[in-house]
Amino acid sequence: MRCELCGEEIRGRAYLGIVDRAELLLCERCAKRAVKAYPLGAQKAGQRKQAPRPPARAVRAGPAVVEEVVDNFAEVVREARERAGLTRDALAAMVGVKVSVIRRIEEGTLVPPVDLARKLERVLKVKLIEVVDEGALRGAGVGAGWEPTLGDVVVFKGGEE
Ligand SMILES: [Zn+2]
Repeated sequence: MRCELCGEEIRGRAYLGIVDRAELLLCERCAKRAVKAYPLGAQKAGQRKQAPRPPARAVRAGPAVVEEVVDNFAEVVREARERAGLTRDALAAMVGVKVSVIRRIEEGTLVPPVDLARKLERVLKVKLIEVVDEGALRGAGVGAGWEPTLGDVVVFKGGEE
């Protein structure tokens, strides 16, 4: 079973998620990016979880940089694909996703997950991933009322590179 967004084999739990109004089978990582995602086979009714509180694990202690897909990914992918003389179907097959995923990426309505972007980089010989300082993203992502626990605190070593 493969994730229909990034094309990776789903090893852990599989999710059904809504991405850009399409329902796709997702791996756990891509499920986090979906508007809505629920584990395959999960009962819908019953105990509903209470107000989403950011789980403690959401903020990982790790390197202070994250990989992000470049803003102009849509043009980069389309131009490189055309230059390579590939159809969308051919490209989709090469990276293991549905052609609709490629179409949405080229339309700019779907930001490819980093895994997929990496495959596209390899196939199209382009640059799609940039490294971003996580510190810059942190302020926007963490809502009010969020309190770091010990495990969440990331120590930034002085200064930026
Ligand atoms: Zn995936």
